[in-house]
Amino acid sequence: MTQFTLADRLATLPPYLFAQIDKVKAEVAARGVDIISLGIGDPDMPTPDFVIEALKKAAEKPANHQYPSYTGMLAFRQEVANWYKRRYAVELDPKTEVLTLIGSKEGIAHFPTAFVNPGDLVLVCPPCYPVYAIASRFMGGVVQELPLLEENDFLPDLDAVDEATWEKARCIFVNYPNNPTAAMAPRSFFEKLIGIARKHNVIVVHDAAYTEMYYNENNRPLSIMEIPGAMDVAIEFNSLSKPYNMTGWRVAMAVGNASLVAGLGKVKENMDSGAFQAVQEAAIVALRDGDAFLAEIRDIYRKRRDTVIAALNKIGITCRVPEASLYVWARVPEGYTSSDFVTRVLQETGVVMTPGNGFGAAGEGYFRISLTVNDERLEEAVSRIASL
Ligand code: PLP
Repeated sequence: MTQFTLADRLATLPPYLFAQIDKVKAEVAARGVDIISLGIGDPDMPTPDFVIEALKKAAEKPANHQYPSYTGMLAFRQEVANWYKRRYAVELDPKTEVLTLIGSKEGIAHFPTAFVNPGDLVLVCPPCYPVYAIASRFMGGVVQELPLLEENDFLPDLDAVDEATWEKARCIFVNYPNNPTAAMAPRSFFEKLIGIARKHNVIVVHDAAYTEMYYNENNRPLSIMEIPGAMDVAIEFNSLSKPYNMTGWRVAMAVGNASLVAGLGKVKENMDSGAFQAVQEAAIVALRDGDAFLAEIRDIYRKRRDTVIAALNKIGITCRVPEASLYVWARVPEGYTSSDFVTRVLQETGVVMTPGNGFGAAGEGYFRISLTVNDERLEEAVSRIASL
């Protein structure tokens, strides 16, 4: 069989950092150990019944069996606008400032195709979701990192970026509540960022996948679109995946500056044919009727968070108590690298955690625990960790 070489953009991707963990996991499983994965941020609970019922009804309508519109159903985009108004007091024009996506990963990954030319400077803030940098590099973008340090509350130090860099930058990707650090950004941070972006004409891409996964009603995560002036320079990616347990459904939205939304829409028009309308109809119901469900889900994750923090404290690991996201982000004990610690925990307990360096070198020295396993398994995992 002919072995074809990959295109350069793929051949130059950094090595897969979880390969080593996957290898150890296979070895541990081969010993017959019951593996518990706290590795992936994929909600374990099912999509709520009222959304599934809506999908069943929508799937029976023949009109939904044909190609959907590229930009998404206007009814879905209108419901997104209603949801943004109710949740964030943000006004959006559903026709020009909202776009349906096949998951926010799809939108984020396509965004640089619309706005990054070869040689353009793209700012990313690691440790972070790898898609921002990879999709930008695919387009020939030059990526500069603004690391998220604990002493800066895991916010990028905007003052450390010089004027010339801001002047050169095409766009900056930020994500709050943050994966993996679980940090939230205060309003003052977003205000400063929007101010700088407007001054230097930089596009702000805010990944808002976790804004609904919060545990403190008095400190709810913001949409960047709440900030005056954001509509001038920002696009925000939000998603039904995490809040409504709908990761498999692939439905999300981009909102914000009309020219950014239109540019992304133009890429999608040429690359895909829209999200299944029945899924969009069910997503309308989730956004419209899902508030009580979200309150229940937040209680469950808050309890899980407390269980994990207590177990970590028991073995002498202290960390910030997250107020949002689905993750706990903690420093590895003295003398370990991220990989060493995660490997030791896996070998000795069968519990899989994510090494921080998997999110970029800035994550070295940390590990991430995902709260997406049920109480029984989580209790089992933490009791194994506590016995280390
Ligand atoms: N952004 C962040 C920070 C994520 O962690 C994820 C998924 O894990 C996504 C975006 C993608 O979510 P989806 O494509 O399911 O909307």
